[in-house]
Amino acid sequence: MITLENVNKWYGDYQALDDVSATVAKGEVVVVCGPSGSGKSTMIRTLNRLEPIQSGRILIDGQDIHARGACVDTLRSRIGFVFQQFNLFPHLSVLQNCTLAPTRLLKQSKALARERALALLDRVGLAHKAEAYPAQLSGGQQQRVAIARALAMNPPVMLFDEPTSALDPEMVGEVLQAMKGLARDGMTMVCVTHEMGFAREVADWVVFMDQGKVLERAKPESFFSRPEHPRAQRFLADIR
Ligand code: ATP
Ligand code: MG
Repeated sequence: MITLENVNKWYGDYQALDDVSATVAKGEVVVVCGPSGSGKSTMIRTLNRLEPIQSGRILIDGQDIHARGACVDTLRSRIGFVFQQFNLFPHLSVLQNCTLAPTRLLKQSKALARERALALLDRVGLAHKAEAYPAQLSGGQQQRVAIARALAMNPPVMLFDEPTSALDPEMVGEVLQAMKGLARDGMTMVCVTHEMGFAREVADWVVFMDQGKVLERAKPESFFSRPEHPRAQRFLADIR
């Protein structure tokens, strides 16, 4: 479903992605980990063209998304993205946050968008907050709304970039629960996260990056018990 072929990216003369190749099959959950500055955010941001690449190819469902002429709006409407910062529209209610894009971009009727949004809010445990405004919610609740909002576009792929790292510890669990639910329902997901418990439990593959390179791709069982690359061994020793 997602294929990266020899992707290279520079910020000026700094090479942030160095010959990255990877694949994500439909329904797979891939967790990307690695030290700070290793290129995880850069990599995930190239998948919906928030960052351009200088060489290589990224195919999503066979379509070269960085090709000239590829439509960014269509691409972004098919890929849900949840960041570290929640980025909800502060002047809109929770429900309005979730219905804006489907009514504007997918031309859904207000009634349909509302019905779907309520079902998604229910799925992340927040139907009772539909009329609240973002400032009235906790960080964990806001992040769950951000997930529901992304899902409202019915994307076949969801990308997460450290969705829990700005949260107070007691709120991490509820967001991971929502993500685990999605994974169980068969969503194709790429998640940058330091939550190794999540990786162990739901990842089909763990990808380890350092200095812009993918150094290891392994099943979580083997990655956590016998990482092959020395850099991955040190990384795991440091976070334990
Ligand atoms: P973290 O775990 O801290 O989020 P990361 O693995 O997500 O790190 P990236 O944000 O992808 O790392 O950054 C990779 C490298 O590219 C870093 O050295 C960073 O300083 C550099 N970099 C990122 N964004 C830019 C930018 N807009 N301009 C220049 N350099 C950048
Ligand atoms: Mg990052």
